[in-house]
Amino acid sequence: MKKEFAVIGLGRLGGSIVQELVALGASVMAIDIDSEKVDEFAQIATQAVVADTTDESVLRSLGIRNFEHVVVAIGENIQASILTTLILKEIGVPRITVKAQNDHHEKVLLKIGADQVVHPERDMGRRMANNMLSNNILDYLELSDEYSIVEVQANRELVGHTLIDLDIRAQYGINIVAIKRDNHLLVSPQAIERIKDGDILVVIGSDLDIHHFEKEIL
Ligand code: ATP
Ligand code: ATP
Ligand code: CA
Repeated sequence: MKKEFAVIGLGRLGGSIVQELVALGASVMAIDIDSEKVDEFAQIATQAVVADTTDESVLRSLGIRNFEHVVVAIGENIQASILTTLILKEIGVPRITVKAQNDHHEKVLLKIGADQVVHPERDMGRRMANNMLSNNILDYLELSDEYSIVEVQANRELVGHTLIDLDIRAQYGINIVAIKRDNHLLVSPQAIERIKDGDILVVIGSDLDIHHFEKEIL
């Protein structure tokens, strides 16, 4: 059976989620309190509905209980975001993802049972800052406060050496989980794999260890 999604709040984030889900073949109900926003999505979403989602009876009448995953992308109105999340939880929606405006908002959302909280502006900002600071780090994904996955361009010092030669795990405490080479992804490379010119290394480790690795070897 096809998964059913609902997205509440059709700003830039919610709108983009709706468009992408539809492009990927999913069925999506798009909901906003603002009828102009809903009109924009009438031709895009499977269903587009004007509703104030802080009203429990309204949410129930939409049959929101039957959706497997609901995204709350209401930004500025923190009260509406919290109330909506609380009602979705009470109604028994299996999976709820919510956009947080700040850390306090996130704490409240997690306390009332949001399954996942996202901070697109904060996370994209951190990513951009990390990318800007390093010429070698091509991309960056924060796993926790301490650990990350980064993509680094293999430089001249690494090219031609095998992973055994470089002894990266023992020397730097980090793991190369994949190598991007000519549009292929070599997942879990073997120790005898030889790094080639143009390789991009996908590295996992603590931020501190990654920083050391980058300083010393790249
Ligand atoms: P963006 O993703 O563009 O950054 P934002 O975080 O700035 O969005 P808002 O523009 O404040 O968030 O809200 C997103 C949408 O949520 C708006 O289109 C708004 O009309 C809608 N919205 C706000 N309150 C409610 C509500 N009670 N019920 C349904 N939709 C609502
Ligand atoms: P967010 O990243 O929070 O989603 P946003 O995309 O909604 O931000 P705004 O809040 O409209 O963007 O603008 C971001 C910042 O840019 C604001 O602090 C605003 O004061 C500043 N700003 C807007 N116009 C100018 C300008 N012409 N020159 C300098 N700063 C500006
Ligand atoms: Ca915004």
